[in-house]
Amino acid sequence: MADRDPVCGMPVDPATAAYSVEVRGGTYYFSSELCRDTFVEGEKVAYFSMEIGLESDIPTYSGGLGVLAGDVIRSSADLLIPMVAVTLVNRKGYVRQRLTPEGDQIDLPDGWDPGAHMRELPERVTVRIGDANVTIRAWLYDYWSPVGGLVPVLFLDTDLPENAPRDREITDHLYGGDQEYRLKQAMVLGIGGTRMLAALGIRVGKYHINESHSSLLTLELLRQPGMDEEKVQTRCIFTTHTPVAVAFEKFPRDMVVRLLAGEIPPELLDKYIAKDGLALATLAFRLSRYINGVTTAHMNFSRRLFPGFHIRAVTNGVHPHMWTSRPFRALYDRYITGWAQEPELLARADTIPREEIRHAHQQAKQALVDYVREKNGVDLDPGVITIGFARRAAPYKRTTLLFSDLDKLREIDRQGAIQLVFSGKAHPDNIEGKQEIREVHDAMRELEGEVTGVYLENYTMDIAALMTAGVDVWLNTPLPPYEASGTSGMKAALNGVVNFSVLDGWWIEGWIEGTTGWAIGFGPDVPVSADERRDRALQDLYSKLEYLIVPTYYRREDEWATIMRSSIAKIAYFFNTHRMMRRYATEAYL
Ligand SMILES: *Cc1c(COP(=O)(O)O)cnc(C)c1O
Repeated sequence: MADRDPVCGMPVDPATAAYSVEVRGGTYYFSSELCRDTFVEGEKVAYFSMEIGLESDIPTYSGGLGVLAGDVIRSSADLLIPMVAVTLVNRKGYVRQRLTPEGDQIDLPDGWDPGAHMRELPERVTVRIGDANVTIRAWLYDYWSPVGGLVPVLFLDTDLPENAPRDREITDHLYGGDQEYRLKQAMVLGIGGTRMLAALGIRVGKYHINESHSSLLTLELLRQPGMDEEKVQTRCIFTTHTPVAVAFEKFPRDMVVRLLAGEIPPELLDKYIAKDGLALATLAFRLSRYINGVTTAHMNFSRRLFPGFHIRAVTNGVHPHMWTSRPFRALYDRYITGWAQEPELLARADTIPREEIRHAHQQAKQALVDYVREKNGVDLDPGVITIGFARRAAPYKRTTLLFSDLDKLREIDRQGAIQLVFSGKAHPDNIEGKQEIREVHDAMRELEGEVTGVYLENYTMDIAALMTAGVDVWLNTPLPPYEASGTSGMKAALNGVVNFSVLDGWWIEGWIEGTTGWAIGFGPDVPVSADERRDRALQDLYSKLEYLIVPTYYRREDEWATIMRSSIAKIAYFFNTHRMMRRYATEAYL
């Protein structure tokens, strides 16, 4: 255990602490009786997420949703928000990506050993799934903030000898298997997770449903004696992350009834499952009082998709310390005392001399250059403007857009050399995504000898941290309105990296043309055809690179450093999970 009080964060010496408690296989020390009692009996916010990104070595995340969940936990611990998090153990991870020289993605399981990172708890709960009683255990990962308190994270696991072989695999693959597999996972997470919290004696005040995978917890609450719809609603918070209707997976009614009938009374199934099936999102909407989208634009789309619900916006963020590279941490420590705990102070980044910003950035860039040399055997030039792009290879992210016109790229390169660093995995079933990765490789090969390009294998949080600090320009080209938020550009801003992005998601709020970066194409509300939208995006992409970005980088160094600094002062101060969690705490949790 850490030598700190998990509730108030005060230092305590285990040898002399007057208050301690043994619980969940650990001993915790307290500075006061009140803290001890609060720890044992106090109400917690239960944060449910299908994926959580705590460390690169715990591969239980696929992308932004999981990384955000990790940042929520990190900020909540820093801010002493009493939270417990619940997720699945995903023993085989999401996917480990191997790339052939041609850019073919080979999907490998990303197995990991929970026992090496966390401790097993003795409690067991069961959920009746179809005609099987599935036993569930939990692994506990205590996330200690380096400056604050503790957030326990429960990883649910069905890999137990008492379960049938088929059921032992329910918690193996993040977003794997067929629909039935995913519905079983939703039952383990929502119903099993709620029961596990009760079995552990953890009192839950509010349930925060981070994307709808866990929303069956609402029915589990509703079925309990003395509960009704309104009581469940007041206890549930739902954060939706999806801007388009087709993305809400609908489970066929007969499948839902067959799997849930052993747990949920028929009258509830009748009331909450539509004839054409169950979308977990609909359940979360109907049974949560506080509902929010993850940016203002996303709120507006969600209001159109789900009329009649009071949907708000809490704009996403990233954890300030986690996503700031070492050189910038050192720089902020010198100029902006207290920035990590109160990132609002980063608004004062204008007081940091430009030369120091440039110097810190060159160090972060060198770390990326070294990594690329080690992994890809390619020597990037630290003096050359470097454009970075790393995303899940899902078609709406348009990984290949930059390569639409290779001659244009050659022409830009003749104005001032450019180099490219790409990364990102495709979901194993996503044929189109895999094809895009191949196309990026093809394009990079065609440009060889002119524009240097590398594709980094197996994108993780560690690579995200290296890239978002080490490139000069962070490119994002999703198709509006599919990007509900996006967060990697916020990581870039924390490190003085300049965003060049399509007007969608968070960038609509962070963008000030020429001051915090540059916009690509029309925003999501502009009524244009798909072709017009694409043409305009391509035009902006190439012409802004050629006439604004590359010339500013090479010929107006001071102006470039000013933009880097504004990126910190006008973006990073706001787009962080400390601000975001303070909002959740005051508006949704209290
Ligand atoms: C931050 C992060 C993301 C999210 O990036 P987007 O901008 O939302 O695409 C995805 N994957 C990893 C590993 C990350 O660190």
